[in-house]
Amino acid sequence: DAYLSAIEAANPSINAYVTVTAGKARAMAKRSDERMASGEAGALEGIPLGIKDLFATEGVHTQACSHILNSFEPRYESTVTSNLWNDGAVMLGKLNMDEFAMGSSNETSYYGPVVNPWRVEGSNESLVPGGSSGGSAAAVAAELCAGATATDTGGSIRQPAAFTGTVGIKPTYGRCSRFGIVAFASSLDQAGPIARDVRDAAIMLRSMASTDAKDTTSVDRAVPDYEAAVGRSVKGLKIGIPKEYRVDGMPGEIDALWQQGIDWLKDAGAEIVEISLPHTKYALPAYYIVAPAEASSNLARYDGVRYGLRQQGRDILEMYEKTRAEGFGEEVQRRIMIGTYVLSAGYYDAYYLKAQKVRTLIKRDFETVFADGVDAILTPATPSAAFEIGDAEMAADPVKMYLNDIFTVTVNMAGLPGIAVPAGTSTDGLPLGLQLIGRPFDEETLFAAASVVE
Ligand code: GLN
Repeated sequence: DAYLSAIEAANPSINAYVTVTAGKARAMAKRSDERMASGEAGALEGIPLGIKDLFATEGVHTQACSHILNSFEPRYESTVTSNLWNDGAVMLGKLNMDEFAMGSSNETSYYGPVVNPWRVEGSNESLVPGGSSGGSAAAVAAELCAGATATDTGGSIRQPAAFTGTVGIKPTYGRCSRFGIVAFASSLDQAGPIARDVRDAAIMLRSMASTDAKDTTSVDRAVPDYEAAVGRSVKGLKIGIPKEYRVDGMPGEIDALWQQGIDWLKDAGAEIVEISLPHTKYALPAYYIVAPAEASSNLARYDGVRYGLRQQGRDILEMYEKTRAEGFGEEVQRRIMIGTYVLSAGYYDAYYLKAQKVRTLIKRDFETVFADGVDAILTPATPSAAFEIGDAEMAADPVKMYLNDIFTVTVNMAGLPGIAVPAGTSTDGLPLGLQLIGRPFDEETLFAAASVVE
């Protein structure tokens, strides 16, 4: 009830929720009360969560914040949300996001932008919460849920966490099932939590992660007790600082934050080493080929027949065209066009195949560093603090928006786990985050190191 009234009071100005499931929340909470009374409480019994609109929730609007999925109600539940409900969690509703998770500011949502609960002191300017999981991050920061599900294809958990002073972890590719998550770029998409602190993120991830026969890329490995790693000593851990992440024009406050993180880890007994990830500079261009290519293929299913919106046409072709022209927003259309182009005969080798090769080189950079004994890598999470809604430069040039992902996309390209932790504030008093990148399936080291930085 407390969360539902908080949502009622704050959501009109924050716009974090696109669907509130009050009736369902109360019914689930009542069942939690009963289970608690009979001593059968699950790990998340009665914990109210918000769910990113990308997760299929049975009988509840699941629209990926796109007009083309207008009023779509799946008849099945995603594996990640099923896992949460099985552990007793309570669903408050569905959270706003960039359309089909394409964006870094939550401004591409059909349901309008999310407003970051943080603002510069003395200013009335509304800031973005980051994206694409902007609703998840804003809802957690404004205490409109105790934690939220999110997804990350190129940074969509970590960048919004950094912009809102929350903790977000993208686990290793394959750790959480993708079944029932609306697909963006299937070889990069991963689910993870956004939570108030490192411990909450660890508790949530343990519930979300599983082996799932319904997703052939989900891994058959036991899920560790992540919470046990929170606060574990980092003495003797080797933390790598990649020199290629010192990008030109990096604001002084980001550099200072990074140095602060290095000092904290050093004081806690970690060994700091400079490392090189030589192919870093190709990550962003390669990502913006691979991700749209996969997206153009995944989004082919929205044809006006199977889901949501349908426009009338003289024949089936015109019906497709009108439905897709009307149903997809500008950024989604841009991705479909780029993706179709790089996959087309004649350009496939020059772009898509090349990008896949670059992806392998990026992955090898990390493998080399980990083989040299590095346990985790520390970088800034984002190149800046949250920016204004409607930022003219970014609106005019999509590539400027893509630059937000400069520190996060390599992690998806290599399939590694990455966590964003709030570590300080900008000179304007806005939250800033650091990122820790780990070995495959070593989320535990990330939780240990993140609790030093937090
Ligand atoms: N900002 C990136 C993009 O628009 C990443 C999005 C994501 O991780 N879902 O592709």
